[in-house]
Amino acid sequence: MKLRKVSAAAATALVLALTATACGGDDSTDSGSDSTSTSGGGDKIKVGIKYDQPGLGLKEPDGSFAGFDVDVATYVAKELGYEPDQIEFVETKSADRENALARGDVKFIAATYSINDERAKKVDFAGPYLLAHQDLLVKADSDITKGTDLNGKKLCSVTGSTSAQNVKDSIAPDAQLRENSGYSECLAGLQSGAVDALTTDDSILAGYAAQEQYKGKFKLAGLKLSNENYGIGVKKGDTATVDKINAALEKMVSDGSWETAVKENFGPADYKNEQAPKIGDIVK
Ligand code: GLU
Repeated sequence: MKLRKVSAAAATALVLALTATACGGDDSTDSGSDSTSTSGGGDKIKVGIKYDQPGLGLKEPDGSFAGFDVDVATYVAKELGYEPDQIEFVETKSADRENALARGDVKFIAATYSINDERAKKVDFAGPYLLAHQDLLVKADSDITKGTDLNGKKLCSVTGSTSAQNVKDSIAPDAQLRENSGYSECLAGLQSGAVDALTTDDSILAGYAAQEQYKGKFKLAGLKLSNENYGIGVKKGDTATVDKINAALEKMVSDGSWETAVKENFGPADYKNEQAPKIGDIVK
C-alpha cells in the first residue's frame, strides 16, 4: 500500500491553521453504517480520524490526510474492500467518538482511541494496534518532572479523553484542569503561558514537540503515567466488522506494513513506540 508521509512543515502549518472543523456526520448516516460489503464496488466508507495530531491523524493544508492512524485506517479499509479513493475521512474529536459510532456517522474510528471498560459499554473495539502512554508536554525550562507536580498548576487536556479523566481520578486531582475540544487549543495555551502543561499520550505529544515552531521550546516529561491501548472503534454489536478488522490488523503486522507505517509516521518526531501489540492483549 501507499503510505503517506507527514512533512514537519506541513504539520506545522496545519496545526496553526486549525480552525473550527466539522464534527462527524455531515450529511447522511448511511455510508458509515451500511458499508459491510467486502467488494467495495462504487460505495464509500466513512472513517473517523483526528485532524490535529501530526504523526497520527492530520488534515494537511491541501486537504489530504496523513499519520499512523490514517495508514492503519487505509490498510483496514482496503481489507474491507475499499480503495483509498473510496474512503471519506471524518473528524471525530475525543468527546464525539462514541456518539459518532452510535449514530452511524462512520463505519469505524482510528483516532488515538484508547480501549477501556467505560467505552466498551458503548462501542466495540478491534485491536489493540498500538500501545502509548500518557505523558506531559511542558516548556523546555519547566520544573515539572512528575505527575504530582501538577497539583495547583494549570493543566490543559481534551474533553472526553482518558488523559483528562486520569488527571482528575489519580494523577493530580488538585491541578487546575482546563479541558478543550481539541489539542491545538492546549498548544496555544502552553505557548502563551496560559497553561503550565499539556497532557495526553506520548505518541501525540512527540508529534507536537517536533513541529518546527516548537523545537527547543517544549519538552516531554518522559513519564509513563498510563497505558493507552489504541483500538479501532465500531458500532456496538457489529462483531462481524470487529473480526474483519482484527484479521486486517494481524495481516498489517505480519506483512511488515505496520512497521513501515511506524517508521514513516513516528520517525520524524523520533517517537520510540512500543512493539506491535497482539490482538486482544490489553496492557492494564
Ligand atoms: N488515547 C487517549 C484517549 O483515547 C487520549 C488521546 C485522545 O484524546 O484521543 O482518550
